[in-house]
Amino acid sequence: MIPSVLPTYARAPLTFVKGEGAWLAEADGRRFLDMGAGIAVNALGHAHPALVEALTAQAAKLWHVSNLYRIPEQEALADRLVAETFADTVFFTNSGTESCELAVKMARKYWHDRGAPERSEIIAFEGAFHGRSSAAIAAAGSEKMTKGFGPLLPGFTQLPWGDHDALRAAVTEKTAAILIEPIQGEGGIRPLPDVCLRGLRELCDETGTLLVLDEVQCGMGRTGKLFAHEWAGVAPDIMMVAKGIGGGFPLGAVLATETAASGMTAGTHGSTYGGNPLACAVGLRVMEILADPAFLSGVRATGGTLRQGLEGLVAAHPDVFEEVRGAGLMLGLKCRLPAAELVRAGYDEALVTVPAADNVVRLLPPLNLGAEEAQEALRRLDRAASAARAAAKAA
Ligand code: PLP
Repeated sequence: MIPSVLPTYARAPLTFVKGEGAWLAEADGRRFLDMGAGIAVNALGHAHPALVEALTAQAAKLWHVSNLYRIPEQEALADRLVAETFADTVFFTNSGTESCELAVKMARKYWHDRGAPERSEIIAFEGAFHGRSSAAIAAAGSEKMTKGFGPLLPGFTQLPWGDHDALRAAVTEKTAAILIEPIQGEGGIRPLPDVCLRGLRELCDETGTLLVLDEVQCGMGRTGKLFAHEWAGVAPDIMMVAKGIGGGFPLGAVLATETAASGMTAGTHGSTYGGNPLACAVGLRVMEILADPAFLSGVRATGGTLRQGLEGLVAAHPDVFEEVRGAGLMLGLKCRLPAAELVRAGYDEALVTVPAADNVVRLLPPLNLGAEEAQEALRRLDRAASAARAAAKAA
C-alpha cells in the first residue's frame, strides 16, 4: 500500500526531533553532528536565537498579506540584497525551483521585448541541478530527472562540463541565456574555475547572451563570500538564490540587473507566498548576520580547517577517498567506496553528511560551525571511513 507520504524519497531511518546549532537530537536520544544543514539550508544552524526571535516577533505581528500590498520586511530585505550585490532588483520566491522558473521566464521575456523572440534557448550543463519543475528538469536534461515526464519544455541544451569549444559553438543567434551553477552541488561539488566563469562572462558580453547563475546551493556565504561568483570578480545578469537565504524558513529569490529584468512589468509574474512577512523577517536577519565581513572570514577560516583535515583523511584512507573538492563550507569527498556506504557509516557515528552524484559525500555544515565541531566531524568521518572499509572487506 502506498504510504501516506508520497514515496519520492528513499529516506534514511532517522527522525530528528530537535536541533541546536550544528547538533540534531534523534528520537532515540542520540546527538548527531549535522554536516548537512538540511542540504545547505540551515546557514546559521538550528534554532539560532536571532532567527527564532525574528520569526516569533513577526509571527505575533503579521504572517501574510499578499503581494497586492506593500510589505516592509520584503522591501527591507530587497534593499539589503541590492546593496550587497550586483543586483538592482529582487523577486522573492519560496524555493530554488521557483527561482529557476522566473530566471528562465525573465531571460526569454528580455529577448521578446527586444524584438528577438527567437532568442529563447537556454544553454545549461551536464550534471546540473536546478530543481524539479518542468523548466528545471528540462534545463538539467538528465534521464534520471526527465524520464517519463515528457513532453519536456523545449529550448534547453546541455553541454559537457568544462568544454570551452563546445560552449563557443553552442551560442547562436537563438541563445537567450547561459544557466550555470558556479559550483555544481547535486552534481558532486564540481567547481567552475574562476577563469572559466570570467570566460563565460566575456562570451555573454560579446554575444549579448544573459548570464544566469544558480547560486541556490553555493550562495549566501557558503563559499566564504556572500555569493560564489564574487571569487571570480564578475557578475551575472540574473541570479537564482534559495536555501541559505531563509536559514530554514522557505524563501528564495531572483536577483537581476535593471536591464535583465526590464521585461518583468506588472502582471508578468507573481507568487502568493513569495516574500511574505514571516519569510522576509527571517531572511533579513539572516542577511544581517551573513553579510558581515567578519562572519564571512570566519566561514573561510573554518572551511580552511575542515579542508585541511579532509585532505588528511584522504591521505589516511586512500582506498576509501580519492580527493577533496569545493570551496569554503561547500566541500565534497570524492569516494572510492560507494558514497552511500560512507554516508551510512557516518550515521553510525552520529554524523550527518549528504550524498551527491559522481560518488561524492558532501559536507555542507552550518556556516557558524565551531572549530572544535569541525575537528569532531573529522574524527567521526575518520571512524566512518574505517568502518566502511571494514564492511567492504567483509562483504
Ligand atoms: N538549484 C540548485 C543548485 C540546487 O541545489 C537546488 C536544490 O537542491 C535547486 C536549484 C532547487 O531548489 P529547491 O529544492 O528549493 O526547489
